[in-house]
Amino acid sequence: MKWLRNFMIGRNGVDQICIALIIAYFVISMLVTFTGIKELMIIGYVLWGVCLFRILSRDVIKRRKENMIFLQWWNKVSYKFRNKSNEVKSMKTHRIFKCPNCKLKLRVPKGKGKVTITCSRCKTEFSKRT
Ligand SMILES: [Zn+2]
Repeated sequence: MKWLRNFMIGRNGVDQICIALIIAYFVISMLVTFTGIKELMIIGYVLWGVCLFRILSRDVIKRRKENMIFLQWWNKVSYKFRNKSNEVKSMKTHRIFKCPNCKLKLRVPKGKGKVTITCSRCKTEFSKRT
C-alpha cells in the first residue's frame, strides 16, 4: 500500500463532495433498478468520474474551495429542513402566522382565543384567533 500513499501525496483525496456524489450514485443506481431506465446510469457514471477527478486532482486549493462552497450550501439546506421538521412538530401546540408587514413567521401557542401579536422583527401588531 506504500505506492498508493506515495501516489496520493499532493492530491485532494476523498472529501464531503465525493461522499455526496457516491451517495447520489447509489440513489441513481437504485432508481435504475426500480424504474428500469438504464439511461439514468450515464448520470451515475458522470458522478463517479467527477468523484475520481476530485480525489486525484492536484489542484488541492481549488478543490478545498469547492468543498467549502458545497458545505455552506449543505448547511443551509439542512438548516431549512430542520426548521421545517420543527414546524411540523409544533403544529399541535402552536400556530404559525406570517407578519403582514415583513412576512416573518411567528409562532403563537394554540387555544388562547383572540390575541394581539407583535412581530419580533418590525414590531407590527396584528390580531389573530389562535
Ligand atoms: Zn414583521
